[in-house]
Amino acid sequence: MSTFKDLGLFPEILKNLEQAGYQTPTPIQSQAIPQLLQKKDLLGIAQTGTGKTAAFSLPILHHFASEPLKVGPGKARALILAPTRELVTQIAQNLEAYSVNLGFKMAVIYGGVNQNPQIRSMLRGADLLVATPGRLMDLMNQGQVNLSQVEVFVLDEADRMLDMGFINDIRKIERTLPKKRQTMLFSATMPKSIASLAASLLNNPVRVEVNPESTTVDRINQQLVRVDKKEKPNLLRSILEESGAARVLVFSRTKYGADRVARDLQKHQISSAAIHGNKTQAAREKSLNHFKEGRIQVLVATDIAARGIDVDSVSHVINYDLPQDPESYVHRIGRTARAGREGIAISFCDQTEHDQLEAIEKLIKKKLPLHAVYSSPVPDEMIKKANLVTPAFRPARHERPAPQTAKKPAAEPAVVHPSEMRPGRRLKKTTATTLAHRGTRHH
Ligand code: AMP
Repeated sequence: MSTFKDLGLFPEILKNLEQAGYQTPTPIQSQAIPQLLQKKDLLGIAQTGTGKTAAFSLPILHHFASEPLKVGPGKARALILAPTRELVTQIAQNLEAYSVNLGFKMAVIYGGVNQNPQIRSMLRGADLLVATPGRLMDLMNQGQVNLSQVEVFVLDEADRMLDMGFINDIRKIERTLPKKRQTMLFSATMPKSIASLAASLLNNPVRVEVNPESTTVDRINQQLVRVDKKEKPNLLRSILEESGAARVLVFSRTKYGADRVARDLQKHQISSAAIHGNKTQAAREKSLNHFKEGRIQVLVATDIAARGIDVDSVSHVINYDLPQDPESYVHRIGRTARAGREGIAISFCDQTEHDQLEAIEKLIKKKLPLHAVYSSPVPDEMIKKANLVTPAFRPARHERPAPQTAKKPAAEPAVVHPSEMRPGRRLKKTTATTLAHRGTRHH
C-alpha cells in the first residue's frame, strides 16, 4: 500500500489529506488502516510523531462517512480518550482537518475550564467525542453524557494514562460502553499493566508496532562537517559527485534555500528537485515519484515538506542547514536507515550554526563525530599532510585558538582547501569519498 488512495478511503477524506499536505501514509498508517477498515480491534505500539492519530482517525471517519447515523443528545458514536488537554486538543484539530465538508459533530471535553460549553456541545450529540477521563466521568455522573451508542472506542497514550492514575476512570467508563464495538489502544511502551489492560479491553486485536525513531537513529552513521557558509554548495557537490549515492535527501531550512540548492545542482548536471510548501501538490508528487524511481539523485526538502516522506532506500541524508528545532534533526535523519538498512547522515555546520548543533547534541545525548573541516583558506602545507584515513578533527579556521607552540599535531586532519575542489585534483575525491563511505565499512 503506497498511497492513501490505495487504502480505499472515502473520497472527501482523500481530498482533505491532500489539503493537509499528506502524501504517503506513514508505516503505522499503512499497517493499521487496512485492519481498522475491517473493523478489527487494534493494539498499536507507537509514539507521538509516528502518525498514529491519523492511523486511528481516518478509519473512523471513513466508516461514519459511509454509514451516516443521527446521534441523540448526550450521545456519541466515537469516543477517543487521551491523557491531557493538549493531546485532546491536538487530536480534535486533526479530526477537524481530516473531516472538512463531512458535516460531523464533534465535542471536546477536558478539565480545568468551564464545563457549560462542553455540556452544550454534547446536547447536539457528537459523532466524535474527544475527552480526558476525569472531566468525562464528571459529565457522565451529571447525566450529561451517555456512552451507550458508542461504536468505536480509542484509548490513546495508554501508558501515560496509567501513570497519571486514570486506570479506575477508564475501567468505569469502559463498563458503560456497548460490548459490541471496535476498540483501539495505543501506547508507546508495553509494560505488564498495559498488556493486561489491553487484554481486558480488546477483542482478538491486531498488533501493530512501529519502532520509535531513536532506535532507528542508532543505526545511522552520523557525521559532522564544519564548513564555511559560502563553501556549502561546493562541499555538497563534491560529496554527491564522489559518493555515487543513488538517493540523497538534502534538507534546507528555507523554501528559498531549497530552490537555490536544487538549481545549483542542476547547473552542475546533478539531477535534483526541490519540494516545499510553495510547490503545487502535483509538482511535489512528481518530484517524489522521480526520486523513488531513481530518476533524480537528489531531493532537496524543507522539514514540513519532508514529513511523511517514506522512501525506503534513501542512502544519505544531508543536512545542508541545521534545523532550528533539534527534534527535526531526529526526524530528518530517520528518513534514511529505513527497513533495517544502514544509512548515513552528514550534517553541515557553519559559523552561524553552533547553537543548533549544541541543541541537537543535547537532545541525542552524544557528540556528532567531526569528520572533516571544509574551510578556506587552508595552507597548502596542511593539505599535503592531510591524513584522510584518520577521522578528521580540527576546528574550522575562524574558531581555532591561536597556535601556542610551533609543534605539529600528531595526526593531521582532513582539511580540504576549496581550491582543491576543481576537477583533476585528487584530494577532493579522496575526502568526499572518505566522508560518504566511512559509514558503510563496518558491515
Ligand atoms: P502524530 O504521531 O499522530 O502525533 O503525528 C505527527 C505529525 O505528523 C502530525 O503533525 C501529523 O499532522 C503529521 N502526519 C501524520 N501523518 C502524516 C502523513 N501521512 N504525511 C504527512 N504528515 C503526517
